[in-house]
Amino acid sequence: MAKAKNNKLVIVLLGRPGAGKDTQQELLKKKFGLTSISTGDLLRQRAKIQDFTGKKIGQCINSGNRMATPIAFYLWMQKLEEFAKKQNVRGFIVDGSPRTVYEAEMLEMALDWYGWANKKVIYLWLSAKESMRRLTKRRICQKCGEIIPYIGDYKKLKKCPRCEGSLVARADDTREGIKKRLAWFKKEVLPVVNYFRKRGELRQINGEQPIEKVFQDVLGALKK
Ligand SMILES: [Zn+2]
Repeated sequence: MAKAKNNKLVIVLLGRPGAGKDTQQELLKKKFGLTSISTGDLLRQRAKIQDFTGKKIGQCINSGNRMATPIAFYLWMQKLEEFAKKQNVRGFIVDGSPRTVYEAEMLEMALDWYGWANKKVIYLWLSAKESMRRLTKRRICQKCGEIIPYIGDYKKLKKCPRCEGSLVARADDTREGIKKRLAWFKKEVLPVVNYFRKRGELRQINGEQPIEKVFQDVLGALKK
């Protein structure tokens, strides 16, 4: 029988748009050899199967509508089942979730079911003002779609570091578009932050510091 609990690392990364979640995620993956559960990727994969749910997920993605929470839950459970079969999974980062308190509660239950007992919740704090500034100034590669955040040395880039493509502003990074995303964060995700804070699980980091300093603080927070 499988062991009831394991001590491998599970990191939940939360933060306003532009807080540097992707950048920190990459650093953490390299440092600890982690994989990730990305709800967005799981949805895009599932949409390829053209059954009822697959078609409906495709419609939601295309129209920008929110996905029903049970769908996210069902995809996480499949991914966690996959991890349970593999001996070499050293831990994982939960990417882009939970996005509602409902999802936070369901994630708890799913992790508990599979015995992932060592969960760390990191909140990269960033003011709404700085979030707006970073998002209006960030760029995207016209060729490969790589997003170039407006932080640290990324600011100086003239070409895409991956494919040399030219960098332009993203179509939905208008002030109006960003305002909508910030309003959504406040309404849906801040309650998730408070949910973990109340449980004494939140490790808050100042996301307005340079990338390397944020990463040092994240590493420090993981030891607590
Ligand atoms: Zn590129």
